[in-house]
Amino acid sequence: MTTIVAKFGGSSVSDANAIRQVAAILAANPARRFVVSSAPGKRHGDDVKVTDLLYQLYALRKADYTATLTAIRARFIDIATDLGVSASSLDFDTEFDAIEEQLVTNPSRAYLASRGEYLQCKLIAAFLGWEFIDAAEVIRFSKSGELLAVQTDEALARRLRGVERAVIPGFYGAAADGSIKTFSRGGSDVTGALVARVVDASTYENWTDVPGIMMADPRIVDQPRTIERLSYTALRELTYLGASVLHEDAITPVRERGIPINIRNTFDPQAMGTWVQTSMPVADPSDPAIIGLAGKQGYTTITLRKPQWSGMPGVSGTLFDILGQANLVLDLALTSIDGWTVAVSTEAFAPVRHQVMGQIKTALEPATIEIENGLSLLGVVSSGACSETILTGQVSAALSDDGIEILSIFRWGDLHLITVNSSQYQQAVRALYGALVAGRA
Ligand code: ASP
Repeated sequence: MTTIVAKFGGSSVSDANAIRQVAAILAANPARRFVVSSAPGKRHGDDVKVTDLLYQLYALRKADYTATLTAIRARFIDIATDLGVSASSLDFDTEFDAIEEQLVTNPSRAYLASRGEYLQCKLIAAFLGWEFIDAAEVIRFSKSGELLAVQTDEALARRLRGVERAVIPGFYGAAADGSIKTFSRGGSDVTGALVARVVDASTYENWTDVPGIMMADPRIVDQPRTIERLSYTALRELTYLGASVLHEDAITPVRERGIPINIRNTFDPQAMGTWVQTSMPVADPSDPAIIGLAGKQGYTTITLRKPQWSGMPGVSGTLFDILGQANLVLDLALTSIDGWTVAVSTEAFAPVRHQVMGQIKTALEPATIEIENGLSLLGVVSSGACSETILTGQVSAALSDDGIEILSIFRWGDLHLITVNSSQYQQAVRALYGALVAGRA
């Protein structure tokens, strides 16, 4: 039997109408047998996500939390009433008593945050008449909050055996002692991917409120096109570079099994969305089509120089050790004659700057050190099948024709990584989109 795992994000389940839309999507294809859902998201621009309300509740645990708890309860009662699911059949009184009791006697941030997905999925399961499976039973974490992949696979496989249809909450699981743990924000995507892997789904559908993955940031480029198809690698590159698509950890479980991910719009279910898959259609090598653009702002560069440094072994090892011990991730490292430049996140560098600079001075004794803020990384991801030489030329030309200073540019497989001043970042994105996407139609 073909099985599709359908994960719905917070905006796809933010109120009763949205959930009715979800039910219609499920009814349209009986292969959609397993649903993973987020907690109710925003219903409109000024609304607050239930997960954020739950974090607020935790923050207020020693203060007056009543209004927040009432607001959370009201969200669920409203949805249940509108869907015609009786609050008593869901045992909301007992559930909310338990939440308040924990809040007062034994507050756990993760437990409270998880209640959004837990209650939501109980509600959706009751509405659909499907089985509810508590993620605490099947998603296994270590005591310190790391996902235990093997134990999770085993627990999920055992529990799902023979189950026809089920609704499983995203975002959380439990450690062996029963304590609730969560993934980082957006983690329901990870739960969906873990379920898809275990049931060997034909597709992992990820339903959102956007048409798919955009070719560029819609806050910078007006109405960018949607990417129709891309590889897992290209998706990881775009995600790493800041495109907000899927939780980063959601890609590996499905990629390992070659399960395609289909990102779809709950409110436009006829549209095909974006497909993420292993095999890509063969592209014309003379046609340097790009997949998408993404980038990150807020970098600091550290440049060290010392005469006669080049050719001296061990400098890079020492430098990388110092940065690594300070928990800094290197997003760029360049070396040339007698010098090194590394780029790190400005936010991450600020609190450890003093310690790092002290260690660099003692261990490496550089002749000069320059620290510069205000750098951005910009990535152009191509299909990998085209002539990268043509693309390199086009990227450089698009930027320089627009008066943008290229601080560095290099190619890593099908990714071109360019550094520009943050003051020119948005202009650079628009210039590249204009030349490499809009200008080609
Ligand atoms: N509800 C959680 C969040 O807001 C997890 C999720 O939606 O994936 O981050």
